[in-house]
Amino acid sequence: MPNNRFAFFNGQIVPIEQAQVSVMTHGLNYGTGCFEGIRAYWSPDEEELFVFQLRAHYERLLRSCKVLFITLPYSVDELCDWTLELLRQEEFRSDVYIRPLAFKALEGIGVRLHELPDAFTIWALPFGKYIEQPSGLKVGTSSWRRVDDNAIPARLKATGAYVNSALAKSEAMLNGYDEAIVLTDDGHVSEGSAENIFLVRNGVLHTPGLTDNILEGITRTVIKELATQELGLQVVERSIDRTELYAADEIFFCGTGVEVAPVIEVDRRPVGDGAIGPIFKQIQSLYYAATHGADAKRRAWCTPVYARELAEA
Ligand code: PMP
Repeated sequence: MPNNRFAFFNGQIVPIEQAQVSVMTHGLNYGTGCFEGIRAYWSPDEEELFVFQLRAHYERLLRSCKVLFITLPYSVDELCDWTLELLRQEEFRSDVYIRPLAFKALEGIGVRLHELPDAFTIWALPFGKYIEQPSGLKVGTSSWRRVDDNAIPARLKATGAYVNSALAKSEAMLNGYDEAIVLTDDGHVSEGSAENIFLVRNGVLHTPGLTDNILEGITRTVIKELATQELGLQVVERSIDRTELYAADEIFFCGTGVEVAPVIEVDRRPVGDGAIGPIFKQIQSLYYAATHGADAKRRAWCTPVYARELAEA
């Protein structure tokens, strides 16, 4: 039994059982869709559910849609409003993962993107940790390379591109690692299977640039701001060699699902001294505060789900 009851589907909120597609659906057969992963955090102190970076996710979704010739009949504001309405109807009082999904809805044969009907849905589930490994992750460099911008652009959160992520993730886990680090075709560090990556070297943060086939992560942007503005750290975006992973003092992943997660071992080599690093710990507590509405300067990053109802009552 799923512990969610509703979905936004075909322009309205319906019982989850009614949000169904045919086996003939284009997006299912060809991977012609794009999606978002958004988190909402329950604050017991405020008795409020806060959706983190809601607008930024829908702005990115519409950018993905544009490349795939998917036209949604909703503005960013409308998408945000439907999301909040769905969460209110679900009456969630826990941390939640929200999944907006746009896809080609033709039921039939034909590989293309143009002149096809589009569909859009949002569903949400109570959700805890994406990777449960508080003592730090042991990761392996994948033998799979990251999809290239001229093949399946990693900049888009395209459904079909996640075959690449899944290949890397399963290979890593079946080889005894917690997660994969995937390189670009020319051998530079790109990202994890579903998260961006930061290295710390001599007190400076380094992260692959936007042209290294990464998803333009929203958490990545958040971490850059917190690191520079709150910790006074320098953040350098540049191409990173594989062996810099072995030379790093600290490494961590970031993403909506994984939040921030420390990497303590790469390819059986300890990162730094093999313990969770001090810069990571500071970033983790800043990130936690920001996501839970406890960072006064960044309250605007958190959209309250129930407050509006109270205000209207
Ligand atoms: N890279 C990939 C491949 C991802 O799937 C994700 C998760 N959306 C990220 C990076 C992190 O992106 P964000 O911080 O926007 O969730």
